[in-house]
Amino acid sequence: MKKSIALIGSTGSIGLNTIEVAKRLGIRVAALAANKSSDILIEQARSLRPETVCIYDKSKYQAVRDGLFGLGIKVVSGMEGLCEAACTPSSEITFNSVVGMVGLRPTVEAISTGKDIALANKETLVAGGSVVNALVKKKGVRIYPVDSEHSAIFQSLQSGRRSDLERIILTASGGPFYGKSRRELSGITVEDALKHPTWSMGAKITVDSATMMNKGLELIEAIWLFRVRSEDVEIVIHRESVLHSAVMFKDGSVIAQLGVPDMKIPIQYALTCPERPESGVRRLSLTDYGSLTFKKPDYDSFDCLRACQRASNMIGSTAPAIVNGANEAAVAAFLSGRIGFLRIGELVTEALDSLKPETADSLEIIEAADCMARELVLSRL
Ligand code: MG
Repeated sequence: MKKSIALIGSTGSIGLNTIEVAKRLGIRVAALAANKSSDILIEQARSLRPETVCIYDKSKYQAVRDGLFGLGIKVVSGMEGLCEAACTPSSEITFNSVVGMVGLRPTVEAISTGKDIALANKETLVAGGSVVNALVKKKGVRIYPVDSEHSAIFQSLQSGRRSDLERIILTASGGPFYGKSRRELSGITVEDALKHPTWSMGAKITVDSATMMNKGLELIEAIWLFRVRSEDVEIVIHRESVLHSAVMFKDGSVIAQLGVPDMKIPIQYALTCPERPESGVRRLSLTDYGSLTFKKPDYDSFDCLRACQRASNMIGSTAPAIVNGANEAAVAAFLSGRIGFLRIGELVTEALDSLKPETADSLEIIEAADCMARELVLSRL
């Protein structure tokens, strides 16, 4: 079990759950970082007493400094500060639950200093997979997936050899608009999109779940994490979110991980694997559920998923960074009321159609592709 973590992205839903898990297991939190929720961050730091605290938003820096005055805690901010928090020397693992592309650089820096990574920031691998994987290999560190599906795949893989893996079955809740046609989706409001049937999450990922972009990003994440091809991953709609994903081995056996939808299980497993201490999580009763359902995804209504699938066939290029960057900009525009729901998928597709993917062999090239995708979206609002 890990003894100390640097937790970046500590005030979102994964961050809050991670603090609970760390407290329960007696894991020390050596660093905390948040985007702009300074009040929660101050409260967390006062109780956990980390060495370093980062507030990404520089306009909140003074407030956090004042709030932690006299406690001997180093307060930093901006991207430099985020990277410093991610690399805190006394932490054994960097737990990255930052939302969005902004999580990429701190992951790369942390791996460079030899840290293992617990990864809840899917954009890190989606956009930066080639750079991150090469660095992971060079430094001999490990990435432990935190996303519930990838944790399920990782856990299921413990029962066989990686070389005997035939296929990954990636499950999707389908989001709040499962079963709807494009016509029905056209009038979706921000309020509608922020209601998720099973998981309670931040606004960006909740919208990603509603457009199924989230599943597309997870497809690309799975390809990098488990070194498979796009065609080796089958996406299956499973409304109950009980079976969190599965693997099929070459003998035809399917091994899955099941449980109630509670992020504390994958968070804990990333920190304790292969041990499985008591988690305090509610127990799954299969008979309470009675039946579990599985369906094929609808790529016409959910064109973000199709765009990600296209990008996943160009792995190693900047295509995944393009769809991700376009989506981040489009979701922000949707949340601020500037575009309708269906426009998100159209803009992601337009970005992929118009921008030429390049070989993604440096952070600079990846960040440039991300930037171009965002600019393209902004120019078409
Ligand atoms: Mg997930």
